[in-house]
Amino acid sequence: MKYDVVIIGAGSAGCVLATRLTDDPNRSVLLLESGPDYPNFEVYPDDLKFGYNQAASAVDAPHNWAFSGKATEEQGNTMPVPRGRVVGGSSAINGQVFLRGVPEDYDNWAAWGNDEWSFVKTLPYFRKQESDMDIKDDFHGFDGPIPVRRHARETWLPAQTAFYQACRDDGYPDDPDMNHPDSRGVGPIPMNNPDGVRMSTSLTYLNPVRNRLNLTVRSAVTVRRILFEGKRATGVEVQSGDEIFVVESEEIILSAGGIGSPQILMLSGVGPADHLKEMGIPVQLDSPGVGQNLRDHPNVRVPVRVKDDFPLDPEAPRSQLALRYTAAGSSDRNDMQILASSFSSPMGGDPAAGEGIRFTCVLELAVGAGEVKLASTDPHVQPFLDYRYLDEAWDRERMREGVRLCLKLLEHDAYKDIVEGLISPTPQDMVSDDTLDQWLLRNVTTTQHISGTCKMGPDSDPMAVLDQYCHVRGLEGLRVVDVSVLPDCIRANTNATTIMIAERVADWMC
Ligand SMILES: Cc1cc2nc3c(=O)[nH]c(=O)nc-3n(C[C@H](O)[C@H](O)[C@H](O)COP(=O)(O)OP(=O)(O)OC[C@H]3O[C@@H](n4cnc5c(N)ncnc54)[C@H](O)[C@@H]3O)c2cc1C
Repeated sequence: MKYDVVIIGAGSAGCVLATRLTDDPNRSVLLLESGPDYPNFEVYPDDLKFGYNQAASAVDAPHNWAFSGKATEEQGNTMPVPRGRVVGGSSAINGQVFLRGVPEDYDNWAAWGNDEWSFVKTLPYFRKQESDMDIKDDFHGFDGPIPVRRHARETWLPAQTAFYQACRDDGYPDDPDMNHPDSRGVGPIPMNNPDGVRMSTSLTYLNPVRNRLNLTVRSAVTVRRILFEGKRATGVEVQSGDEIFVVESEEIILSAGGIGSPQILMLSGVGPADHLKEMGIPVQLDSPGVGQNLRDHPNVRVPVRVKDDFPLDPEAPRSQLALRYTAAGSSDRNDMQILASSFSSPMGGDPAAGEGIRFTCVLELAVGAGEVKLASTDPHVQPFLDYRYLDEAWDRERMREGVRLCLKLLEHDAYKDIVEGLISPTPQDMVSDDTLDQWLLRNVTTTQHISGTCKMGPDSDPMAVLDQYCHVRGLEGLRVVDVSVLPDCIRANTNATTIMIAERVADWMC
């Protein structure tokens, strides 16, 4: 078995790469995925198809790795970390927010030695991925695979309208197009779910090209490690059923996501030498940055009890609007976001057991970073995920301000017929900065945007795992292309940026 390209992981990035790279009929591509495959819309399961109830897909075990991680010392290793395990990957179970970072995010990457990733150079690939159904201008695509829309004002639920009113009266501008470079303020979130159908990369990119004879998609195959001859990657060792196979390839692309990609590199002997030796893995390449620089958007939820006669409909879209704002004293635009949810349920819990409405207060540009380390040499055992949220004083300060802003918005008249009272934090939690910090550390959780764990960067940065073309430094024939390549998390949800990265690298390869 020998292919021109083997892609490991059929997620947001993997499906895009498989599609674009097989445009050339002379290139044979094998796309490997650990989870199941549903090759057409008719057999696509409801939990993947219908996106409003994200909690359902996020707990459905056949489609979710259902990892756990350590958010803070206070919480221990208890935080649920869903990741997609299905053709489509996390794009098949995610919340369908289709938001780009601000231009400064990509310009920072360029300033850090990745000059191919400035905003101006990435914009064509953001356009290429989408068909924006609402806005036609130079910043938006109109003929790409992923349909993007916003909830029209006349469809906003009462809790969303109240949020909008409270934000506007507090001085935040109207933000009708959050994918515009100048976006800030309150407005409808761009979403890739027309009629509530989650438009994964499997539905939008891969399905239309499945007829190609040069494309082979194999699901229920778990990659155990990459094989090398000298410095060159030559193949992969995989498990299918109870059997182990070796597949050879001219080029290997690792697209197993922010957790899977560093895990597979380390299992293959590519990672921090001390850690590999401690795990008894022969060192192929000492690459100290593998698994480091774990970035995410820490968030806290502020649940609110509603009046008895206020309707809660868990089948309705949960979040329609958001507020993007800049924290006091911050020089980073839009480093905070508050999301308004029209019903609240514990993540992964029964949405019908809703407690009311809630705000989700998100730190969009955290200073702190965590790490991914192997817990075992068994590829089936999840690595240890240490997020280290809010270790940094500046991160706690901005989150405190965010929670206080949520409480202030709730006092607006627009909420008077909706709100019965705050569930959490309690008045005791709000007594001082210290008590609020304790509440934050007990409650902070993931926004599911793990990134940066195999970052790209210049020669001069010893922690850069990849060069800016996403080649693994020090090796040949091996790239990483997925959310783990981000030098830092962008000030937005990560799906659109991951797809942009796959589009850009595919263009270089074609
Ligand atoms: C519950 C949830 C909600 C989210 N909500 C949003 C949102 O609303 N908007 C947004 O922009 N982003 C959201 N995200 C984040 C976004 O979906 C991800 O950042 C993005 O999908 C990452 O793409 P990827 O290609 O890096 O990885 P993935 O899409 O996760 O793909 C990795 C693939 O590799 C496979 N794989 C892993 N290991 C192996 C192995 N050893 N062998 C074979 N296959 C393997 C996995 O099964 C998976 O299919 C959410 C994520 C989750 C989990």
